[in-house]
Amino acid sequence: MTAVLDDLDRLESFALRHQRLFVLTGAGCSTESGIPDYRDRNGDWKRASPITVQAFTGDALARRRYWARSLVGWRAMGQARPGAAHQALADLENAGRVEMLLTQNVDGLHHAAGSRRVIDLHGRIDTVRCLQCQALSPRAELQQALMMRNPRFAALTATVAPDGDADLENLDFSQFDVPDCAVCGGMLKPDVVFFGENVPRDRVDAAFEALQASDAMLVLGSSLMVYSGLRFVKRAAEIGIPIAAVNLGRTRGDEHFEFKVDQPVGPTLAELARKFSA
Ligand SMILES: [Zn+2]
Repeated sequence: MTAVLDDLDRLESFALRHQRLFVLTGAGCSTESGIPDYRDRNGDWKRASPITVQAFTGDALARRRYWARSLVGWRAMGQARPGAAHQALADLENAGRVEMLLTQNVDGLHHAAGSRRVIDLHGRIDTVRCLQCQALSPRAELQQALMMRNPRFAALTATVAPDGDADLENLDFSQFDVPDCAVCGGMLKPDVVFFGENVPRDRVDAAFEALQASDAMLVLGSSLMVYSGLRFVKRAAEIGIPIAAVNLGRTRGDEHFEFKVDQPVGPTLAELARKFSA
């Protein structure tokens, strides 16, 4: 028997023993959808680290640069479709195996695949929030406005990142024109949790509550390098909830796992979902 089959057997047995799974997903679930992940097998950054909320709100040029890169990055992000991992999780939910799916991804692909028990820990890139009046609006609308105001940038292409960022460098961002909130004139920001920003408390509490109601935790495609995700593994370990993981490479939660499958999430989960829907 091959190592891969052993891994699948362990995963299937884990899911059989624990009916209600608390699933935590990360960038490794969306790589097959053409959205690259942030980190390599050692958990190190593959690219420049994302913008902080302090830079975004406090520095007009940094903000222009963010939106210019986002204008280009959104084209890939906005067109991404769910992959095998998203589909498998929607199927597992339909089979009654998912208590809650907590995702660190902002791409909305779990919803697109049909999952309904989802908490978007870090928000959604397809939504824009006014920092003053809190009005929400579709990112697609803002995209139209950004393209109209900045035709020179609309023609550019670049490598994209999981947060909708894109690698644009050595350009003059000082003239990039970003609209303000149509309601109150306030500053617009993607409705995602930036680095340097806290996840809203009620969202964290809802996730902890779901974890408490679960029989086991499954970590999928996340290196857990960010504490906002890692804390759920730590809590699960504290309260004696067994944890398994599917991830390529090292994670910051390795010491807490019953076992880890070092395989891509998509094919592994597809196989698991097949067994439960059969
Ligand atoms: Zn506003």
